Amino acid sequence: MKKAKLIFVPSTGKGHLIPVLKFAKRLVDHDDQIFISVVFVKLSSDPFVDAYIESIKASKLDRIDFIDVSQQQQQHCHSIVGNHSRSVQDHVNVVRETHTPLLKDFVVDLLSRSRLDSATFVGFIFDLFFVSLVDVAHEFNVPSYIFLTGNAGFLSLLFHLMTRHGEICGSPEFKQSDPDQLISGFINPVPLNVLPSALFDKDNGYPLFMTTAQKFKAVKGIVVNTFEELEPYAISSFSDHGNPPVYPIGPPQSSVIFLCFGSFGRFLAPQVKEIALGLEQSGYKFLWSSRVPPRNDDPGGVHYSEDMLPEGFVERIQGKGMMIYGWAPQVEILAHEAIGGFISHCGWNSILESLWFGVPMIMWPMYAEQKLNAFKMVKELGLAVELRLEYEQLNVDDVVMADEIEKAIKQVMDERNEVRKKVREMAKIARKSIVSEGSSFLSIQKLINDMICNN
Ligand code: UDP
Repeated sequence: MKKAKLIFVPSTGKGHLIPVLKFAKRLVDHDDQIFISVVFVKLSSDPFVDAYIESIKASKLDRIDFIDVSQQQQQHCHSIVGNHSRSVQDHVNVVRETHTPLLKDFVVDLLSRSRLDSATFVGFIFDLFFVSLVDVAHEFNVPSYIFLTGNAGFLSLLFHLMTRHGEICGSPEFKQSDPDQLISGFINPVPLNVLPSALFDKDNGYPLFMTTAQKFKAVKGIVVNTFEELEPYAISSFSDHGNPPVYPIGPPQSSVIFLCFGSFGRFLAPQVKEIALGLEQSGYKFLWSSRVPPRNDDPGGVHYSEDMLPEGFVERIQGKGMMIYGWAPQVEILAHEAIGGFISHCGWNSILESLWFGVPMIMWPMYAEQKLNAFKMVKELGLAVELRLEYEQLNVDDVVMADEIEKAIKQVMDERNEVRKKVREMAKIARKSIVSEGSSFLSIQKLINDMICNN
């Protein structure tokens, strides 16, 4: 039997690594011809990531192997994550800038020395952060694909940027005075204030988005962690305009992790207090995974102080509520039948995970493309309750008050709420999409066929 080899180049942040490895596992499960090498730069010793990689290795020993480029090159990238006080965008930029050259050297070396049997080498699968490496793959005439951890709505924004850029006169970055955007993957005009804030930054954010969007047009295919039935409108919008094929392959089975606010969600003390009050006022039981910004003198610490909570809160919540400080086992929590609602920072993985278990969400976006995700879930799909569509974490002037939180909790927990019914339906559809003859199953099948034909 012919071997079809793929090189995955993921980013090692949890929100990217977990879904891409789940996808890798699904590919090899789907077809015995597929062999995968995962080439990555390890950030620092992260017990969770280490354990996750080990579990994949253990189950797919001979078909998926891992190459840590930082180890191969005797380099260590620990300092990258050392400073927790930098913004999410800065963190992403540093990762991108530091890892891309390492990965590039490795890939060039690999291809020039023809270590791979080109007859069976069917392509690269790049993470969003490393799309600049598409050029290297092209130089060596190797097909490249992108695995997008975001959704089809975000992809349609990237395509929209390309079209808009060609039409705009004057400086191209977005301005708050611009009109709502008519984006082909969205039914409603998209308000400016739900777009990623980087698009308003003419020096760094906007140019980076643009160069990224260009690469999305230049690949053989884009794998999106979503499913057709969830985003039919956006997915059907890709079929024209000369876009590469889009493969909606999600959601990864059991990819759900329940926790409030993702890898980077943090709150200042006034917001922590309002959440606590809102939870109490709602009268519902709760499990609250909470993190606050680390202190400069100890960036790795948790530093949660009960002083941040309303007086007597800890005593009053006994038997009603629990706090988790640090990383939470989100999938297990969401999977638990007791969980009836999820206040989410609107990371796409968290949204898919919650849908998978039929847990209705309250949208509270924090960073990256999360405002756009919230807009999609509330306005486009009617699959979530709105708390805020706009919010910038750690902004002292932006505090969501306890009453608003209480109201959203009561809404999401109300059995008569249409959102609850729709989410339960979507959970059934999500599960059907990945089993034999389901939409994502067929999409994986098509991707494998196309990769083998493109070779
Ligand atoms: N997650 C978790 N525990 C936490 C925080 C996050 O298990 O305390 C998981 C979550 O279930 C999801 C991923 O980390 O799979 C976060 O991805 P998402 O796209 O939701 O947000 P990001 O962290 O990328 O902003």
